[in-house]
Amino acid sequence: MFGRRMVLGRILGFEIRADISWVFLALLILWSLASGFFPSFYEGLPQGLYWTLALVGTIGLFASLLFHELSHSVVARAYGLEIQGITLFLFGGAAEMREEPRTAVSEFLMAIAGPIASLVLAAGFYVLALLVAGVGTPEHWVGVPRYLAIVNLALAVFNLLPAFPMDGGRALRAALWYWGKDLRSATKVASRLGQGLGMLLMAAGIAQAILLGNFVGGMWWFLIGLFVQGNAGATYQQLLNRFALHGMSVREVMTEDPVVADPDMTLRRLVDEVVYPQHHHRFPVVREGRLLGYVGTNQIKQVDADVWERTRVGDVMVAAGDDNVIAPDAGAEKALERLQQSETGWLMVADGERLHGVLALRDLLQYLQLRQELEAPA
Ligand SMILES: [Zn+2]
Repeated sequence: MFGRRMVLGRILGFEIRADISWVFLALLILWSLASGFFPSFYEGLPQGLYWTLALVGTIGLFASLLFHELSHSVVARAYGLEIQGITLFLFGGAAEMREEPRTAVSEFLMAIAGPIASLVLAAGFYVLALLVAGVGTPEHWVGVPRYLAIVNLALAVFNLLPAFPMDGGRALRAALWYWGKDLRSATKVASRLGQGLGMLLMAAGIAQAILLGNFVGGMWWFLIGLFVQGNAGATYQQLLNRFALHGMSVREVMTEDPVVADPDMTLRRLVDEVVYPQHHHRFPVVREGRLLGYVGTNQIKQVDADVWERTRVGDVMVAAGDDNVIAPDAGAEKALERLQQSETGWLMVADGERLHGVLALRDLLQYLQLRQELEAPA
């Protein structure tokens, strides 16, 4: 879901990051405030003042989004859930949890904390607008807290829609889970609603563009719809995966006896005799039964093809370590999580120096698909 991101800092112990797409959003908001919103409400002001108002408004919006996500994160932490950090991206923000809430009540409170925070902010900015108006501040400056009150109210309402991946969808799932005691069917309902809402938003976007000629607005609705629709489906799939892997160990899902490379082999031989015939991207490097590391196409590519003859696997391999090795007794759920977060989507399964197998994200997803195909209730 996220592309390149930069770390902005830390608040209350949570790492705050901005996805590269957020820069685009920030500029778009700044531009639309400076050239649309403020000039239409407060006519005849100097151009520079519109941009100043817009800048303050954009910073206020940024802080509001952050406050919303922080409130989710604080409640999650209170329930002992690990939060990886907060990432701001094209469609707002996301508090990234490493794990799912364990109880319906904790999920409900965590979900509802965000919209409540936005409502509180909306009320706060409304009062602020009244206060600054009361002391005779120029009307256009009163417009900034007024704008932020409206935006936070809209944020709260939109997020309360009872459909995944909106906060309202999580709250609905938690409520269904609480009353029906079945997380799986509760998730199914919330994610179906999310997919429906996504379709609706996309249709509304197309209608806006075609019927009203509002292409930019229509495109936004369409993109948000696409995001909501995709995300809602993915959430349900992820839960099915977790259920399927629950209680299983890495040993049960790994690929046993993988083809390995010898550290003394030349890259030429590795490519001709191992990589091409096996058509895999990565191979564990083993000498006399001891796992040393791995070598893959990324390492081979770093070396000029004309010196492959003289370069040995041991010279370019990546040493075995915590970020590329998992224990055979580790949980398969945990393995899926690690594979999804890793850059290579590939882990070696070993205890100490003894290699047991390898585990690739692609294979694990394939396995899950087979299970679903054969075991899904008719
Ligand atoms: Zn939220």
